[in-house]
Amino acid sequence: MHPTTRRPILAGNWKMHLDLAAGLALASEIRNRCSRLRSVDVVVAPVALAVYPIAQRLADSHIGVAAQNCHYAARGAFTGELAPSQIKDAGAGYVVIGHSERRQFFGETDEGVGKKVRAALDAALVPIACIGETLAEREANRTLEVVTRQLDAAVAAVSKDEAPTVVIAYEPVWAIGTGRTATPAQAQEVHAAIRARLGERFGRDVAERIRLQYGGSVKADNIAALMSEADIDGALVGGASLEAESFISIVTQTAELAQGRPS
Ligand code: PEP
Repeated sequence: MHPTTRRPILAGNWKMHLDLAAGLALASEIRNRCSRLRSVDVVVAPVALAVYPIAQRLADSHIGVAAQNCHYAARGAFTGELAPSQIKDAGAGYVVIGHSERRQFFGETDEGVGKKVRAALDAALVPIACIGETLAEREANRTLEVVTRQLDAAVAAVSKDEAPTVVIAYEPVWAIGTGRTATPAQAQEVHAAIRARLGERFGRDVAERIRLQYGGSVKADNIAALMSEADIDGALVGGASLEAESFISIVTQTAELAQGRPS
């Protein structure tokens, strides 16, 4: 982690969990206990229906809100979809794009992810673009090939000036919701390759400013080791973000590391 150049970013992906009351209670607790931790960006991604009330609840804090998906069109006849500007209008500042569950269950393509990243930037949302290989791809030694292909597509329509705004989440599919985390060394190897590729695309100085999150069974007891790797700048957290204690511990440990104080 490079605290002077890249501000850590921790995002809780609540997926299709939590009713409104539970989401509001969790948001309040995160706000109350993380507001003084100004050295990190903290984001929660509730279900779309809860983006507005949760954003209202967090309005007086630095905790950001993300939608879990968006459409790539600015408006139109796309029943059931959400335009990036509508997500922004509801109070979100971020949008998760291309999560592996969307790729796996909803036919999300590399090309679609690129279009959504473009659309998010057009609506002044920070895209959190997810990439990552399946277990079969890793076992076939195709990790870097797959991740590079997904990355290239995700940033295909991003300019050099915009690139530092984009957040890339490396989430090996085999580590999501399985309790099986990539080792810090495994994650770092891929993060370094991602940053090198971003350097080829945007130049090294720009690549050094782009934040790369790791995601896949991140918990309070493995965040510190992951964050000690040079190219890991935060985490996208699923299961452990649904419970205040574990998510707040992840945020607190990261903030302490960012301030150079071991937790
Ligand atoms: C995720 O949903 O992005 C994720 C990483 O989930 P989990 O932390 O539960 O593996």
